[in-house]
Amino acid sequence: PLVLGIESSCDETGIGIVRGRTLLSNTIASSMDEHARYGGVVPEVAARAHLEAMGPSIEAAMAEAGVTFDELDAIAVTSGPGLSGALMVGVGAAKALALATNKPFYAVNHLVGHVGADILDTRGEPFDYPTIALLVSGGHTSLLLVRDLVGDVELLGETIDDAAGEAFDKVARILGLPYPGGPQIDRAAEGGNPAAIRFPRGLSLPKDMAEHRYDFSFSGLKTAVARWVERAEDAGEEIPVADVAASFREAVVDVLVTKAINACRDLGVPRLLLGGGVVANARLREVATERAAAAGVALRIPPFSLCTDNGAMIAALAAQLIMAGKQPSSLGVAADSTLPVTEIQVAELTEG
Ligand code: ATP
Ligand code: MG
Ligand code: FE
Repeated sequence: PLVLGIESSCDETGIGIVRGRTLLSNTIASSMDEHARYGGVVPEVAARAHLEAMGPSIEAAMAEAGVTFDELDAIAVTSGPGLSGALMVGVGAAKALALATNKPFYAVNHLVGHVGADILDTRGEPFDYPTIALLVSGGHTSLLLVRDLVGDVELLGETIDDAAGEAFDKVARILGLPYPGGPQIDRAAEGGNPAAIRFPRGLSLPKDMAEHRYDFSFSGLKTAVARWVERAEDAGEEIPVADVAASFREAVVDVLVTKAINACRDLGVPRLLLGGGVVANARLREVATERAAAAGVALRIPPFSLCTDNGAMIAALAAQLIMAGKQPSSLGVAADSTLPVTEIQVAELTEG
């Protein structure tokens, strides 16, 4: 099926067009720069930017794919989770388009979309299931067990406070580096010693592992970095930015990869898929590659353009749902900022 997918859950207005597993276009307009001076995504600013970008982005994606609205088999959209106002813009646009073109409407889950990105044929043969998926971005840190992309996704664990990308952004701020902090810290860390400072690994002590084996926590780590920097400043020392960045990055990456590989081992699943903007992190890729190989786990890391938020992954997931015979969603489906990952498609009318 030929599907147009709309993504607007955070700061990217993404429009993707796919035919089955084939990617035809994937346009992304980001309002990231507008959030820079606030040090994080401002929901109202993001929603407004989506409104402005939506029309032109849809036209650009259609032109690039070289298809007409008439040819489309379905319109798909992220209906959650994400920022309410931002989601509403995408959901509204998708419904309007579905009505105007008289095409079926599919409201799908953003997190499952991240997993779906990997199904596109530019990635070669599709990844086998079950797989463990580690999704790490500015808004999410989730460990999933995907038994069936269109039928069975289980949440193993998630962050109990900050998301991994959010931690990078906050620590960058502490170190005086600009937003978004992830790439800045990644770069600064290259010249540093990752063993210089032993920062805490959140929820990794035996007592935490009993209850939170697959959960994450990064706010304690952020506080530890802030304290370390304050102490050094009070002592009149110069801040070794490269060492702090490298040691912080090591702590985040260590926890992410340890827990993901633990899940693979515990559940006997020899496959791990990464997704989300933090996957751009050089050290995360390196450590995941090493430890997956050592554990006999096959690792898949989609290209960066499919790791960050995009419309192609939403279209790809909807195409899979259609091929599996799933019926369209009701046009009464509303944006749901806290949509659970187990709801791969929102089919029925929702309240509120
Ligand atoms: P969502 O959470 O809804 O997926 P988002 O816009 O917050 O959306 P992405 O756009 O996928 O997330 O990713 C942005 C995040 O990734 C930011 O927090 C950014 O700092 C982080 N990031 C980007 N590059 C790197 C990197 N090289 N190392 C670490 N973090 C990075
Ligand atoms: Mg983003
Ligand atoms: Fe995302």
